[in-house]
Amino acid sequence: MNWFQTRELSSGVWLVAEPSHVNTWLVAGRERAVLLDTGLGIAPIRPVAEELTELPVSVLNTHAHFDHVGGNHEFEEIAIHELGAPGLQQEVSPALLADYLEYTRGLLAAAHEYRRTDRAFFHLLTPDSNPRPLPEGFDPPSWRIPASRATTTLRDGEKVDLGGRELTVLHTPGHSPDSICLLDERVGLLFAADAISTGPIYAQLPDSDLAAFATSTRRLADLAPDLRSVLVHHFGRVTVEPSFLGAVADAFETVLAGEPPSAAAKDCLGRDAREVRFGGFSILLPA
Ligand SMILES: [Zn+2]
Ligand SMILES: [Zn+2]
Repeated sequence: MNWFQTRELSSGVWLVAEPSHVNTWLVAGRERAVLLDTGLGIAPIRPVAEELTELPVSVLNTHAHFDHVGGNHEFEEIAIHELGAPGLQQEVSPALLADYLEYTRGLLAAAHEYRRTDRAFFHLLTPDSNPRPLPEGFDPPSWRIPASRATTTLRDGEKVDLGGRELTVLHTPGHSPDSICLLDERVGLLFAADAISTGPIYAQLPDSDLAAFATSTRRLADLAPDLRSVLVHHFGRVTVEPSFLGAVADAFETVLAGEPPSAAAKDCLGRDAREVRFGGFSILLPA
């Protein structure tokens, strides 16, 4: 079984998922294609992208977190928000990857039971959401995410021209200072990166900014009337309805206004956090 799950979501837009870990998106115009992030680096992603399109493929990172830049080193051309460029320049800490592997082991053990239950009762699992065993030949202790270098830096409002398709850069800090979303205005698709998800939304990281997150998610929610779909970068549900954006923006405002009840939680690196639950997603805050 391949580590990646691929499918064409709409014309010229492919999901390249590491199911239950991270969703990468390949977007093609007439002249070139961009890969919105490069995943975990557990298996080479470039050959997978090049199998889907004959156009030249470059990287457009939504931010510099390890789970979005794992395959950057496979590519010559990398664009990222100007605040994210320095973060690419050092190898990801092996200790952090070891923590993520621990999470992965827990995920795979749980998935076995989950699949059994799903087959018996619920029938909800899809290939997009079903985590896969680590690929053959992958040696967990020697997993590394090497440094890479931005060849283009981006700012809010810039357009990335793919030939007959344009992606507008929306600088949406909050999850991290360098976070961007990409908007394909013509077809009404928003690539929401880590600003929006159907699981825990990470606002607990050392460089997260709750007030900025509230502003950014409200900005995204204001786009909803002109959107057809929102594509997200984590967990099993790879798209959400545009109305979901308003729910997330409302939730951030609620959290910002005064703390709703929260519960102790852990993030995917096993670090302590507090979780505020809403319908269909949650927000993680610092412990
Ligand atoms: Zn992130
Ligand atoms: Zn992420």
